[in-house]
Amino acid sequence: MVKNVVIVGGGTSGWMTAAYLRAAFGDRIAVTLVESKNIATIGVGEATFSTIRHFFDYLGLDEREWMPECHATYKLGIRFENWRAPGHHFYHPFERLRVVDGFPLTDWWLGTRPGGDFDRDCFVISWLCEAKRSPRYLSGELFEQDFTENPDERAYRTTLTEQNTQFPYAYHFDAALLASYLTRFGTERGVRHVLDDVVDVRLDERGWIDHVLTKEHGELAGDLFIDCTGFRGMLLNKALSVPFVSYQESLPNDRAVALRVPADMAARGLRPCTTATAMDAGWIWTIPLYGRVGTGYVYAGDYCTPEEAERTLREFVGPEADDLEANHIRMRIGRSERSWVNNCVAVGLSSGFVEPLESTGLFFIQNAIEQLVKHFPADRWDDRLRESYNRQVANVMDGVREFLALHYHAAARSDNDYWKDAATRPVPDGLAERLELWQARLPDSETVFPHYHGFESYSYIAMLLGLGGVPVQAPPALRHFDHGRAERELRLVREQAEALVANLPSQYEYIAALNGDT
Ligand code: FAD
Repeated sequence: MVKNVVIVGGGTSGWMTAAYLRAAFGDRIAVTLVESKNIATIGVGEATFSTIRHFFDYLGLDEREWMPECHATYKLGIRFENWRAPGHHFYHPFERLRVVDGFPLTDWWLGTRPGGDFDRDCFVISWLCEAKRSPRYLSGELFEQDFTENPDERAYRTTLTEQNTQFPYAYHFDAALLASYLTRFGTERGVRHVLDDVVDVRLDERGWIDHVLTKEHGELAGDLFIDCTGFRGMLLNKALSVPFVSYQESLPNDRAVALRVPADMAARGLRPCTTATAMDAGWIWTIPLYGRVGTGYVYAGDYCTPEEAERTLREFVGPEADDLEANHIRMRIGRSERSWVNNCVAVGLSSGFVEPLESTGLFFIQNAIEQLVKHFPADRWDDRLRESYNRQVANVMDGVREFLALHYHAAARSDNDYWKDAATRPVPDGLAERLELWQARLPDSETVFPHYHGFESYSYIAMLLGLGGVPVQAPPALRHFDHGRAERELRLVREQAEALVANLPSQYEYIAALNGDT
């Protein structure tokens, strides 16, 4: 029987995995987590994807409880600044498109309003982001009522595969505070926590992991080992020699420099979205938390030195950045060829990472642990389950690589070598053909990357319309239709958005109340 799991690494991936396994299996599976006192976690990873709510839901955690403890705020989408031209911005919201006579609203929009703001014309969330509104009223009620919110009314806990509605928000949170929160959650539910360095990984004669050797606690034996050691990949890549498949050819950003900037959010306001600002050799993220801003420049080392990148980031932030210590990070972009080999599964950065644009790191972790639970062995190992797991996890990352490659390829900016090269860099297999088709017909569920990867066709449409570097057109068929109903729907989006902006509290007001600060 597989009964003892040893997790090596106590970053977000280690603690998310430990907490989830205990929530899924309870005492039937013993979980030990060993983490080093000396090797720091990556310290970033503070913006999420709207599916994260299933993770908290599965653990039975209420956002009103954990959000204040993690200085969390809401994220309703991403604001892209300067990707098309200096001063231009658009939103990629967590909002599906309305459909009129079988055509998404953006198809109709293309027929009548080219040159306007597709995002504000077609999505109400763009307005909430512009006006820095909360997605909830002060009563706690959500602005959008299509979801069963109360877990007590549901007979089961939800997971990613039950995601058949588009929930309108994700979260921003302090990564260190979330790790502490999950540490408490896990240890209170029986996770054995060992603070020590793993100094060796010992294999048996078959090449399976027998135990890991620690500096002070001796050997830690287990049936299944989970590698959460971050970019090091100490178990999977080093001890088991699993190769790493680089995505660098299509995604060149391989470095980042980050700052944690204390800020007066009452004065500044809390925009309920992550901002991604295009720069000369990459882009800068701005993540508003309750009490500080997380920010960082993601860049390609071939186009910019770490010193230049830090200078650029400090200038971007302004005097608030003076005296703050910068965190320089080298990123390994790509995925392990297989994430589960023998009795070792890599979760988190050791499994793969596709750069922070669109905030998918924690989504990969969530996907991996949900799949691990679905493929978990009982009294024998089954190669078919391992292969099925590896295929699913690889598809998710390959799909996100393709979506991100689209961001750079389709950006209209071409003002320096970095952006000129972005338009001509090789794109992953399949994307070139899809791009050709999307110029005649905007993406739909049949024409995007064919395996689950978290993003739906509306996301691809938002990026193509917002980035502006790839010509697109309205379906010619619409010329044979009466546009009256579509015009009414476009008017309705505006009316509903104006009413929401007038009636919802600001995000700052809502979050301050949640924190008991009013
Ligand atoms: P780490 O945080 O690196 O943790 C590794 C752990 O392993 C540590 O506890 C360390 O002590 C331990 N360890 C290592 N070696 C040993 C050893 N020998 N013995 C014992 N313990 C050991 N994701 C998002 O979802 N949203 C974002 O906005 C986002 N932004 C990002 C920005 C950047 C620049 C980068 C690089 C990543 C970002 N990510 C983001 C990804 C996210 O940060 C990671 O997916 C997440 O933090 C998980 O990291 P990890 O736990 O795999 O690794």
